[in-house]
Amino acid sequence: MEIMEKLRILADSAKYDVACTSSGVDRGARKGMLGSAVSCGICHSFAADGRCISLLKVLMTNYCVYDCRYCVNRVSNDVERAAFTPDELAGLMIDFYKRNYIEGLFLSSAVMKNPDYTMELLYKTLELVRTKYRFNGYVHVKAIPGASKELITAVGFLADRMSVNIELPSSQSLEQLAPDKTKESILAPMTQVKNLKIQNKEEVKLYRNAPKFVPAGQSTQLIVGATPEPDKKIITLAEGLYKKFALKRVFYSAYIPVPKQDSLPKVKPPLLREHRLYQADFLLRFYGFAAKEILSGESQNLNPNMDPKCQWAIDNISMFPVEVNKADYYTLLRVPGIGQISAKKITDARKTGSLDFDNLKKLGVVLKRARYFITCKGKMIDKISLVPEVLYMKLSENKINESSVQMSLFDLMPQQIETSSGGQFLYEEKAGANKTRHTVYGEDSDTAKAGLLIKNRENDMAKTAPLINERTSSTAKTALLIKEGAEIGWIGKAN
Ligand code: SF4
Repeated sequence: MEIMEKLRILADSAKYDVACTSSGVDRGARKGMLGSAVSCGICHSFAADGRCISLLKVLMTNYCVYDCRYCVNRVSNDVERAAFTPDELAGLMIDFYKRNYIEGLFLSSAVMKNPDYTMELLYKTLELVRTKYRFNGYVHVKAIPGASKELITAVGFLADRMSVNIELPSSQSLEQLAPDKTKESILAPMTQVKNLKIQNKEEVKLYRNAPKFVPAGQSTQLIVGATPEPDKKIITLAEGLYKKFALKRVFYSAYIPVPKQDSLPKVKPPLLREHRLYQADFLLRFYGFAAKEILSGESQNLNPNMDPKCQWAIDNISMFPVEVNKADYYTLLRVPGIGQISAKKITDARKTGSLDFDNLKKLGVVLKRARYFITCKGKMIDKISLVPEVLYMKLSENKINESSVQMSLFDLMPQQIETSSGGQFLYEEKAGANKTRHTVYGEDSDTAKAGLLIKNRENDMAKTAPLINERTSSTAKTALLIKEGAEIGWIGKAN
């Protein structure tokens, strides 16, 4: 099978894994090595549905000996199968990196033969990436539950982040839907990673050049909507995982119905629920909320029509309004619409004088929601009723597009309808029922196509980059996007 064919199958299979975002690790460029990573995140762009697309997200293989019922790659499902060799995958990833398609790797795998065999394949791939190709950029790898401690340790010294998917919110659900996995087999590598990280921190303090073990920490993912556990259970579980395993992130993945599984829900992926869980997760990680505060009443599930912070504020309306000139940083953080940056700006600015609503606007504090919950110098912005029902009417929303679907790597590739010689690449762009025909120019058609991919990822660059000079330069590998006959922008260098 051709490598690109394998990539088509294995990148598509990996799209169900959502546990990847920014790197969380700083590593400058090094002489003789490729790439670098920055802690503020390597994700320069997001797919239309908000997901990060700058890593090559791929499975080593989708041959699986397990039969998790919620998974499209389970052994009993009839799907196209493929497997990379470590050489193929490492070479492909570096090739993509050099072409500027990606900035790092997110490598996961189904369980081929057994956990150790699969983990060894992952290890070999990362070893090639790091040693043969001297790649110094970001790598996120999945640990396979059940793999040996030695392999997990070895892989952890090559990766920036490691994750072990907890998969389902309770052991009963795990038993029902993923009978080959156990809570223990999932928690064991998580515990190992946590302990090794603590140990490694001490080593790095003693020996500055000691290799770092998963410097960007560990994360996990759980599937939402395949089993009946309510949001309260999920948020409480996430809180426990953050505390016990020092996880960097818990990712929530809306269950996407898989074929031939009559016992599982046949509903659309619960993307709005996933979104609310991410908002609640933010409250846990950055706003000082405890799980029991987020869902404190009778309700077991987050309100789909309202941001959980707004809901909490309405449920606890006796704590409002908050006087911005007096409230401490953590109280300000609890005001809907005020985040960490705004709270910091407020506490800094009021050192030089008391603030009014105009001052808040100048500081960049967004008052759309905050206006209902704050006073400046004892006054509200206008006459606002603090009756919970009224606030609920004003603040409820339901605009999230439930029909969004996870993109595949190949969704980014424009549909090619024709390629001519002389460096043109013609494609059709589809937006709903409308089609627009574009021509992209490059030194050759591949360059044009590569430039177009970059344009898709870096839209802002396309808007600001110079137009004409680059096309006439014989050395620059550039491409121009021509929309309906008129040049609309330089779209980037192919490498
Ligand atoms: S182990 Fe389970 S979840 Fe993972 S690929 Fe195999 S069947 Fe899917």
